[in-house]
Parts: sequence; C-alpha cells; structure tokens
Amino acid sequence: MKETLIQVHDKTFDIYLSEEKIQQRVKEMAADINKDYKNKKPLFIAILNGSFMFASDLFKQLTIEAELCFIKLASYKGMKSSGNVVTSIGLEDDLFGRDVVIVEDIVDTGKTLHRFLPKLIHQQPKSLTIATLLHKPEATEYELTLDYVGFSIPKKFVVGYGLDYDGLGRNLKEIYQVV
Ligand code: 5GP
Repeated sequence: MKETLIQVHDKTFDIYLSEEKIQQRVKEMAADINKDYKNKKPLFIAILNGSFMFASDLFKQLTIEAELCFIKLASYKGMKSSGNVVTSIGLEDDLFGRDVVIVEDIVDTGKTLHRFLPKLIHQQPKSLTIATLLHKPEATEYELTLDYVGFSIPKKFVVGYGLDYDGLGRNLKEIYQVV
C-alpha cells in the first residue's frame, strides 16, 4: 500500500484530498463563476497567505474578463473597542460599483471574514460574493453566506495546497488532515 502519511513539524498528517480531486473541483467552481459573471468583469480579492495557490489555479480556469488582487489581513486590538479589528494591507482598488469575489483558502469559525466584510461593503461594491476552497461547517460560528465552496470538511486541522502548519506545508499539491 502507498504510504500517505507525512510529518510537518511535530504532527503527522494523512492525505485527505488528492491533487486530482482538488483540480477537478477548482475547475467546477471556475465553471460556475464563468457562468455567473459572464459580461461582468469581476474583481477577485484573494486573501494571503493561504489562498495563493487556490487563487492561481482558479484564475487560470476563468474564461471571463476578470481582475485579481491579493491582500493581507492584519488583526489588531482597537484603542477603544475590546475586540480585534481586521484591517487589510494592499487593497488599492476602488470597489465602488464593482462585482467583487473574495477568494479564501478556508473558512473555519468565520470570524475573520465576518469582521472584514463590513470594510468592503463600506466601499459600496455592486455585488460581493465569497469563494472558499474549504469550509468547516461544524466550526463556523459567525453568519456568512458562502457562495462558492470547494469542499465541506470536518473540524480537523489541514495543511497543503497553500495552507501551512506553523510556516510549513504550503507547497504540498494535496491537502492533508492531522492524524
Ligand atoms: P476563521 O476566521 O474562519 O476562524 O479562520 C480563518 C483562517 O484560519 C484561515 O484563513 C486560515 O488561515 C486559518 N485556518 C483555519 N483552519 C485552518 C486549518 O485547518 N489549517 C490551516 N492551515 N489554517 C487554518
């Protein structure tokens, strides 16, 4: 039998989604987006670091006219508010009147996007949708409409295909689940 276990730092992971499965699903997601955004010229906003590989593969499968930018989210304690505020680094495009698609690697609790979306909505895009490769429905605590979901997965830590464990594992072509 083929060995499917890998070691990243102190943890063992087993293969969960093969390269073939991921690529097939990304193609299907792109086909949906091509259909939904025909003649619309959307702006894709991919959230770094984790989504770089998914964003790249998804973008390659698009046949519509589309733009892509990458942003990084930073979380800081507001001076007055008690909770964390999420701000973005690198968002230079004006979103007013644009059809915007957020590209995420994984939605876990949903907290990051829940906190960040109001900042985008404030710019009055014409429409705003979310495309995430992975979603952990059992972990999601914040209300979010996920328009394009690659795979719904169990509440277990995963690495690979852009996702890291403490800096490592992003280069893996497959997605692995902690054992
Ligand atoms: P949320 O705000 O939805 O709880 O978390 C979103 C972020 O947490 C993701 O963009 C990702 O960076 C990180 N994350 C959540 N679950 C996992 C996981 O299973 N593996 C990895 N590598 N990162 C995760």
